[in-house]
Amino acid sequence: MIAGISLCFNHKRMISHRKRFVLSRGFNAIVGPNGSGKSTLLRAIYKCRDCKRHESGPTRYQYFNGEMMNPHRAYKYFKGLQGTIIRTRALFSSHGETMRDVLGSYNPQKGDCFILDEPETGHDLEWIIKIRKGLDALVQEGCQVIVASHHPVFWHNAKVIELKRDYLRQALKIMSAQIEDKGGHS
Ligand SMILES: [Zn+2]
Repeated sequence: MIAGISLCFNHKRMISHRKRFVLSRGFNAIVGPNGSGKSTLLRAIYKCRDCKRHESGPTRYQYFNGEMMNPHRAYKYFKGLQGTIIRTRALFSSHGETMRDVLGSYNPQKGDCFILDEPETGHDLEWIIKIRKGLDALVQEGCQVIVASHHPVFWHNAKVIELKRDYLRQALKIMSAQIEDKGGHS
């Protein structure tokens, strides 16, 4: 599990010029407009050798992005027997099913850190809620989850990390204004 990260010079430059990020033990959501560095921050947490991770113990990291969850690309990413099963099933399944297979194929242990880049990609609301519930179940088992997401289902009850100041409040304000606007015209 990772309590925080101090970014290296390069990553600090790429991610809103902030050096340190504090992460919570449970569910973390990184939010911000496109280009603010959400995916870059996830990849820095996952594998940058120069960034300093502050870990509370030995930590296994699992990283997923939309491309890995794409059933037509699964063949590139998953190896071994489990990989064969995932790849074969991906031939017949959707993004959501592939993600469920992949998450289901891990044996989560306390302290594991799951990193997901835009887990909402390619899913309808029903699936997005299922994915959120699956991730919450991992948190219940003592794992940590870090997502970068544009979807409010992943912001709910999360420690929100804003890459642009006041982004969450502004986004929710715009959302409710647009919904109310549509309601008024119907
Ligand atoms: Zn770095």
